[in-house]
Amino acid sequence: MEHLRKPDWLKIDIGTNARYTETKQIVDTHKLHTICTSGRCPNLGECWGRGTATFMIGGNICTRACKFCNTLSGKPLPLDLSEPAQVAESVRLMKLRHAVITSVDRDDLEDLGAHHWAQTIETVRQVNPQTTIEALIPDFQGRTELVQLLIEAHPEILSHNVETVRRLTPEVRSVARYDTSLAVLRQIAENGIKSKSSIMVGLGETPEEVEETMDDLLANGCKRLTIGQYLQPSRKHYPVKEYVTPEQFRKYKETGMSKGFEMVESGPLVRSSYHAERHL
Ligand code: SF4
Ligand code: SF4
Repeated sequence: MEHLRKPDWLKIDIGTNARYTETKQIVDTHKLHTICTSGRCPNLGECWGRGTATFMIGGNICTRACKFCNTLSGKPLPLDLSEPAQVAESVRLMKLRHAVITSVDRDDLEDLGAHHWAQTIETVRQVNPQTTIEALIPDFQGRTELVQLLIEAHPEILSHNVETVRRLTPEVRSVARYDTSLAVLRQIAENGIKSKSSIMVGLGETPEEVEETMDDLLANGCKRLTIGQYLQPSRKHYPVKEYVTPEQFRKYKETGMSKGFEMVESGPLVRSSYHAERHL
């Protein structure tokens, strides 16, 4: 298969500084996983250099295998019960005013990892009462009682990513269903918590389909959206179908804001957790 050449606007400087080294030391010392490294995020140098990272809980092996995702998939290890305290302590050492936490999917566990999630949020809050929290959660197979546990832990933002447009969901996501994701977002909004979602573009979607996704999100109470370019983590992953131009990203932002979103971050290197403190 022919591979598209990466345009100049996606070339990044992966410089490191003292703050980057400090962030890495904290992450390594506490044996934490981050989506920054698991996802081979292009913003690693910048974010870690500013002293921010996105923690990934529940281990680093996911029970699902989405075609765009670089996280390991397979049979996960048992939960590390010290993880909530380790994350909380790292948030303290990094002096984070806003912490973003996500997880692998734990379809192997009876509660799909929901109690571990809630405990992590509660522990981070106990140790860091001034820190705001964004929890980027899985779909919990659409089990409303499990989503409710996370709502009751009351993070400032509860995010769940639809990842792509409706048509491409069965092709690129594993197990997840578009309508289940919308239902999770609806439940969050109905409980008065700010919700947020994210899509990748460049997977073969049309601008009309992106607009339909915006409409679907708004219809389900989700008023925060990030849009970024999909980058293929390796040749085994889903191919990039298009490098969306910065101009088109600007148009998506304009369209989203005119449709009624309160926040749209749209740009080639935008990721769900990129400058997340601005999404509150
Ligand atoms: Fe980590 Fe998010 Fe920054 Fe990427 S954008 S490096 S995932 S905090
Ligand atoms: Fe990656 Fe999919 Fe697992 Fe999320 S559910 S960590 S996107 S494989």
